[in-house]
Amino acid sequence: MDLVELVPAHAQGDVKLLRGKDQLRAALEPARREGSSIGLVPTMGYLHEGHLSLLRAARAECDVDVMSLFVNPTQFGPGEDLDRYPRDEERDLELAAEAGADFVYAPPPEAVYPEGFATYVAVEGGLTDVLDGDPSRRGTEHFRGVTTVVAKLFNSVGPDVAYFGQKDAQQVAVVRRMVSDLDFPLRIEVLPTVREPDGLAMSSRNAYLEPSGRRRAAALSRALAVAEQVAPSAGLCAALEAAEAELRAAGIEPEYLEARDAEDLSPVTELGSRPVLIALAARVDGARLIDNVLIEP
Ligand code: AMP
Repeated sequence: MDLVELVPAHAQGDVKLLRGKDQLRAALEPARREGSSIGLVPTMGYLHEGHLSLLRAARAECDVDVMSLFVNPTQFGPGEDLDRYPRDEERDLELAAEAGADFVYAPPPEAVYPEGFATYVAVEGGLTDVLDGDPSRRGTEHFRGVTTVVAKLFNSVGPDVAYFGQKDAQQVAVVRRMVSDLDFPLRIEVLPTVREPDGLAMSSRNAYLEPSGRRRAAALSRALAVAEQVAPSAGLCAALEAAEAELRAAGIEPEYLEARDAEDLSPVTELGSRPVLIALAARVDGARLIDNVLIEP
């Protein structure tokens, strides 16, 4: 296998595909020496406009842009969709190049987790054992997988700025905590959720939806929009009830639908002086979808 492959791209010149962390370091060395800023966009691939919005932001702000493309096995639980997670590396490389990425780092799993791998990074406590981290759902192991791979990517790339999407609000809160607690010398930039015309948050997992489920899935964002509208006048409790009614009307039973402090994820019952996150997860057609809305004070 070639360690450095040049992939011809449509619009923006070439993007370099790197499979090994040593090659990645060597490729970034000139930029680092010259003091150029490095942006990192971590992804699991099967790119959509949400990913591309992060890449374009990195392009606009940083001198050199790296997209990682890695379906991270440690963040999938047993029985989750690791094996069937959608993949299309060739298309991803073209889209990443068009959006202005300079490097795509796509290591094989055995390079990230070689035999004998035994070290994990885990954010403990109330950020990781609620919502998706609740033991009845994905569990804290999911976030342990996320923080472990993100810490490794930060060490391999050494970015000045790392870009994440608000769509995965809990992931953002957890990664921010890790960066602060472990003194990673970088800035986290969070970009708004990019949506389909009917409001459905873009997600690689939307590929699992059948046409009828795809139509019903628009109820998730409708429910959050209703909650956002109701909350300021009628309060969070009424907002959550209205959102649940919207989901029920579409035949969708949420795994969770909760109002939480956007930063520490503690439960909140009233709007106050801090941003509130209304977050939900629901299964549609066997696809587990998440979405959220942020209500600023
Ligand atoms: P993923 O490939 O699903 O792990 O996502 C990679 C990055 O893209 C994460 O930071 C996500 O939060 C972000 N992302 C995923 N979907 C969206 C979206 N619809 N809008 C904005 N960012 C997104």
